[in-house]
Amino acid sequence: MNSLYKALTAAGVVALLVVGCKKESRTTTETKEISQETLSKIKSLGFGTADVRKVTEGYLVEGDIVLTDENLDNVPPMGILRVGTSEQYRTTNLVTKLPRTITVTTSGLTQPYIDGTIQTVTRYNNLNLQIKFQYISSGTADITIVGFNQGPSGGYITLGSSGFPTKRGNPYSQVKMNTNQYAYGTNPDPTYVGSVIQHEIGHCIGFRHTDYMDRSYSCGGSASNEGASNVGAVHIPGTPTGPDANSWMLACSNGKDRTFNANDKTALNYLY
Ligand SMILES: [Zn+2]
Repeated sequence: MNSLYKALTAAGVVALLVVGCKKESRTTTETKEISQETLSKIKSLGFGTADVRKVTEGYLVEGDIVLTDENLDNVPPMGILRVGTSEQYRTTNLVTKLPRTITVTTSGLTQPYIDGTIQTVTRYNNLNLQIKFQYISSGTADITIVGFNQGPSGGYITLGSSGFPTKRGNPYSQVKMNTNQYAYGTNPDPTYVGSVIQHEIGHCIGFRHTDYMDRSYSCGGSASNEGASNVGAVHIPGTPTGPDANSWMLACSNGKDRTFNANDKTALNYLY
C-alpha cells in the first residue's frame, strides 16, 4: 500500500503525505514477523525495509504503497533499468493496451471523497493523455476508492494507500482513504482529499515517490535512503534529477491541495 502520511506536529497539523513509520513501535514488531526472504524481495525492488507492514493485500512500504505477492515475485532482470537520483520514477510495470479508459468509483464514502475523486478524474483528463479516467457512480470499476478508519500513531497518520500496476498491465484496483477525523478533519476539504486520491492513483498507474531516495525531502526528519537496489525505479527521461518541491508524487503531503507541476506533466506525457 502506499499511504500518504501526515505528520502531526506539536503545533498541530502539518500534513505530510508520506511515511514515517519508523517511529511506530508496532511497526518494528510487525517487521519482525515478516520473513527475511520477503524483506530481501522488497529490498531488491528498491524499497526500504525499515518500515514494512503486513497488510491484507500484501506489504505496505514507504507509508502508502502496497506490494502484492505478485509484485514481490516479479523482480525484473538486473541491468536493464537505470537508477535516477531524486526525481520522477516509475515502476517496471505500467498500464498497457493504450489508449484506454480507466473507470473509477467510490464505495461507502461521503461527498467530499466523491468530489475529490471526480476532481482527480478531471485533472488527469485535462492532460490529454492516452490513459483516460471516467468516474462511474455505480457498478464495477477498474479502480475503487474505499475508506478505512485509523487514528494517528507515532506522530503520523496515514492519509491513503494504494499499489502498483499488475504484471498483466492493469492498474492497481483499490485506493484506501482514511476517514478518521485526524486525517482530514470533521469537515474534509474535497480539494485536499482529491489531491491525495490524485497521488494514490499515480501509484496505481506506476509512479513511485519522487523523493523515494530520501523521503526526508518532503517528510522532514532525518534522511531516509531507501537502499541500494537498482531495480524497480526507472528514471523518466526529460525530468530533472534534482529535488522538485511541488511534485504530486512526493512521499509526504504538505497538508494542502497539491497537483501536477510541469515536470509531473512531462513524466505523465512520456509514459502515457
Ligand atoms: Zn505515495
